[in-house]
Amino acid sequence: MKISIIGSGYVGLVTGTCFADLGNNVICTDNDPAKIEALKKGKVTMYEPGLEELISRNKKEGRLKFTGNIKEAITKSDIIFICVGTPSRDNGEADLTYIENVARSIAAYLDSYKLIVEKSTVPVETGERIKEVIRSEKGERAKFDVASNPEFLKEGSAIDDFLHPDRVVIGVESDKAKMILIELYKPLNAPLVVTDIKGAEIIKHASNSFLATKISFVNALSAICERVGADVVEVSRGIGMDKRIGMSFLNAGVGYGGSCFPKDIDAFIHICEKLGYDFGLLREVKKINAQQKLTVIKKAEGLLWNLPKKTIGVLGLSFKPNTDDIRQAPSVEIIREFQERGCLVKVYDPKAMPKAREVLSKVTFCKNAYDVARGADCLIVVTEWNEFKELDFVKIKKLLKQPVIIDGRNIYDPRLMQKMGFRYAAVGRNIRKA
Ligand code: NAD
Repeated sequence: MKISIIGSGYVGLVTGTCFADLGNNVICTDNDPAKIEALKKGKVTMYEPGLEELISRNKKEGRLKFTGNIKEAITKSDIIFICVGTPSRDNGEADLTYIENVARSIAAYLDSYKLIVEKSTVPVETGERIKEVIRSEKGERAKFDVASNPEFLKEGSAIDDFLHPDRVVIGVESDKAKMILIELYKPLNAPLVVTDIKGAEIIKHASNSFLATKISFVNALSAICERVGADVVEVSRGIGMDKRIGMSFLNAGVGYGGSCFPKDIDAFIHICEKLGYDFGLLREVKKINAQQKLTVIKKAEGLLWNLPKKTIGVLGLSFKPNTDDIRQAPSVEIIREFQERGCLVKVYDPKAMPKAREVLSKVTFCKNAYDVARGADCLIVVTEWNEFKELDFVKIKKLLKQPVIIDGRNIYDPRLMQKMGFRYAAVGRNIRKA
C-alpha cells in the first residue's frame, strides 16, 4: 500500500518504518526541515533501540522515503497517517493546532480518495473536526474517509510493540476504510478491535488513564506501607497475581512522567469536563503522582538532615529506561526541587544527557554512575536503567561522601544495601526489619 506519515517523531517514524518493513511504500514527512535532512542522511534524532538499523534497511530497499514536501507525501499516497504532536495547553486541554494544520494541508492537496488516519492521541470527536475542516475546504463531494487508529507503542520497545501489539484498535465509519486498515494490519496477525471513530478515540485516553491510575494506586499503597513497615513489593505481588488485576504497572516508584500519561490524563479530564462529566478519580491520580515525586526530597531530608550545600547524585534522567525522552520526566522536577533547596546536583543517564542539557542548568553532567557518586552526599536512582542494577557498590561506597542511597525505583535489595553499610531508603519497602 502507498502510505504517508505526517509527523516523523517517535510514533510517526516507528509507524512508517514498520509499515515499510511489512512491504508497504512509505513516505515520511515533517515540518521540521532539520529532522528530515538528518533522516535523509540516515541519522535519527532520537534514541529508540533498533530503529536506525530498520530505517537504513528499508531506505536501502526503496520502501521508505523522507521528504519535507507535504504535498508530495499526500498526493503520492492512499493512506495518510497523522502522527503530529498533541501537546497540552496551560489549562490541560489538548492543543490540536498541529492536527488542524495537517487537516488543512490534506484538504489543500486532496486529489483522489484518501484514507486519513488519526494515529496521534486526540480527544474524542477530533475525527469529526477533521472531517469538518476537509469538507469546508473541499466541499461535500470530496472523496475521503477519516479513521482512528490509536498507537499503544512504548518508547524503548517501540518496534517490538508496534509489530506485536496486544491489539490493534480501528475506529471507522465505512466498510472501505475498515477493509483497508484490516488488510494493512493483516501481517501482524494481531487481535483487532473494530469500533467507531469516537470509541477508538476514547479507548486511547482511557487506556493511558487506567495505566496511570494503577501507578498512582500502588504509589498510594507505598505511602501506607512506609507508615506501617510493610513491603509494597510484596503487597504488589499479592495484588497483581490476581489475574483480574495483573502484575504490570504495579511498581511503586517516583511517579509517572513522559510525553503521554501527564498530557493524556489532562486532556481526558478536560474533554470529560467539557462534556459535562467531572472525572474526579483522574484528578486524584494526578495529585498522588505530583506528591510522589516530592517524597524523594523528604527521604533525602530524613537521611541527610540539612539539604543546603549537599551534593545530590542523580542516576537516570529519561522518564523510563531505554529511551532518551525526558519530556515530563520526574527527574527534571526532582532535580529542580533539590536545586531550590540549595543542593548541588550531579547527574548521569546512559542516553538522555544531550536532551537533558537543553533543559537543565547548573547541574554537573557526569560520564558514568561512579563519576556521579564521587564526592556526593547521596545517590538517588530515578530511572531504572539496567546498568544501575549491576553497580559495584563497594566502589560506590568508597566514592560517596556519605553512604546514602535513595532507590526511587526499588531496584536494589534493601537487606543487602543495609548489610553493606548504606543508609538506604526505597519506595514503600519494609527496611526496618531488614
Ligand atoms: P513527537 O513530538 O516526537 O513528533 C511529532 C512530530 O510532528 C514532530 O517531529 C513535529 O515536527 C511534527 N509536526 C508537527 N506539526 C507538523 C505538521 N503540520 N506537518 C508535519 N509535521 C509536523 O511526538 P510523538 O511522541 O511521536 O507523539 C505524536 C502523537 O502520538 C501524540 O499525539 C502522542 O500523544 C501520540 N503517542 C505517543 C506515544 C509515545 O510513546 N511517544 C505513544 C502513543 C501515542
